[in-house]
Amino acid sequence: MKIPKKTNRFCPYCNKKTEQKIKLVGTGAKRGTLTRGSISRAKKRGLGVGIGNKGKWGSKPAVSKFKRKSKTTKKTNMMYTCNVCGKSKYQKKGIRMGKQIQE
Ligand SMILES: [Zn+2]
Repeated sequence: MKIPKKTNRFCPYCNKKTEQKIKLVGTGAKRGTLTRGSISRAKKRGLGVGIGNKGKWGSKPAVSKFKRKSKTTKKTNMMYTCNVCGKSKYQKKGIRMGKQIQE
């Protein structure tokens, strides 16, 4: 998918349509990191340390790109920076696309 570098878009700070720069950003933090059953919290609790098989809390080998069958595309979010006031607005709605090219 081709994405332009600039667009005319409404700026809530200027309260009018202005020219804005588009920047592609990742979808952000990992989901469910604050839940009790999450691995990040379990590791802080001290699980998954020591020798031997750690079972659920042990390190898992990385699943290679070729083994993965579902989700061949990633979601991307866009950051809009106003050229007039210089403030940025983040569009949370991610679009699933294979390859992002900025013209
Ligand atoms: Zn603005």
